[in-house]
Amino acid sequence: MGRSTRMRRVIVAAVAIATVWAAGAAAQQRAAGARDFDGEYRAAVQAAKDAAAFEFLGTLVRTCLLPQSGGENTSDTMPDFVADPKKAPARETWYAEPAKVFDDLEELIVGGMQKLGLDPKQIKYIIISHAHTDHIGGAEILQRKYGARVVMGAPDWDTVEKYPNRYKTMAPKRDIVATDGMKITLGGRTVTIWTTPGHTPGTLSYTFTALDRGRTVNIAYSGGTAFNFVNNTPVPGIRNFQTYIDSQKKMAEKASAVHATVLLSNHSEFDNAYNKNRMLAGRGNGPHPYEIGEEWVQRYFKVMQGCARAAQIRLEQRQAQS
Ligand SMILES: [Zn+2]
Repeated sequence: MGRSTRMRRVIVAAVAIATVWAAGAAAQQRAAGARDFDGEYRAAVQAAKDAAAFEFLGTLVRTCLLPQSGGENTSDTMPDFVADPKKAPARETWYAEPAKVFDDLEELIVGGMQKLGLDPKQIKYIIISHAHTDHIGGAEILQRKYGARVVMGAPDWDTVEKYPNRYKTMAPKRDIVATDGMKITLGGRTVTIWTTPGHTPGTLSYTFTALDRGRTVNIAYSGGTAFNFVNNTPVPGIRNFQTYIDSQKKMAEKASAVHATVLLSNHSEFDNAYNKNRMLAGRGNGPHPYEIGEEWVQRYFKVMQGCARAAQIRLEQRQAQS
């Protein structure tokens, strides 16, 4: 046996021992209950990506990729743009023309309604998905000027009362407290309200029907998307993500039960409303661009679950390593 061959055998043996040792260490880790957090994280993100495909890129980006606000918002000051309207971002960066999406379903904004030939005095109920200022902003005016009844989840009514300055000129007076399964019927149409805590403790989602050229369409509305809740520490972040995930599962079931083929969300980047409103104009005799079918409605909730689970795994990892 030559020297170099002997050396090679020594190296091969050393590599073999190292491999056995590494395998032994991995087995020991598994036996000790150590988890492959990175692998779990990648699988959760991949599940969200697979579900999103090209339909829910905005939701995927917002919940899986963009940084999340992590701590509790305890500010009780009036938002800048309310105190001084000059501080509002340029109108062309956020304004979208009102659009009539279904025969009997429109944006409830006074100017937009009037453009569409609707009378805001006819508003009977305003159902607020959650008490963030971008969703509650106009409710005070509609309640005060037009006498509309306002429906919101109990914990979010509490938030409004806790931060009176933050909500000054925005928040309506406490009115109807939503309960799970509550039905609001007007003119033969019923909206069923589902409590879906997570985005905020009082977030509401809905199932309802609308008419498209006289045909009934089943719709699921998801009331809160981004991870704005406290999630910068394992406690209470892990539990808060679980609340959020459970709500997405629940809403997926409610959407499935009514065979929802349309998914509406609380911002236009999540359900592609902005682009779809433009597609509506060129629809001709084609299908309704919002009508994506039952499977795609279900995928929406899978995107949110996958991204929330991925973020939750990271917190579990931090907790295990601390
Ligand atoms: Zn919000």
